Amino acid sequence: MEIEEKVLKLIKSRKKGILQNELWKKAEIDRRKCSRIVDKLEKEGKIVREQESTKGTRTYRIRLAEIKEKEKARDFRLLLVKDMFAPCTGCAIECTPEQCIPLSEWVVHLIEEQ
Ligand code: SF4
Repeated sequence: MEIEEKVLKLIKSRKKGILQNELWKKAEIDRRKCSRIVDKLEKEGKIVREQESTKGTRTYRIRLAEIKEKEKARDFRLLLVKDMFAPCTGCAIECTPEQCIPLSEWVVHLIEEQ
């Protein structure tokens, strides 16, 4: 359990996460043990893994699940322009985007905001 906390602490210490092939070295454990701990933490929903490749080697970037969730919420705000939500979100109208007034207005607001 102590080593699991150490691994989790290492993951928490990096805002952008840590590569699994770096994590086991930093945690001073072997690769397999690290993999088992990471699997367990992922199943518990504490971390997320994203495939990444470094120097031609495939590995995983491991991040705290709560940080990933916060980022998703931030991305969601990208759909807002001057308190106007992207009109296509949830829109069920059959359309021709080139002729859509709500979309055109939203794009104009987007351009004005930049
Ligand atoms: S372009 Fe206009 S009509 Fe089409 S999905 Fe977007 S908001 Fe709806």
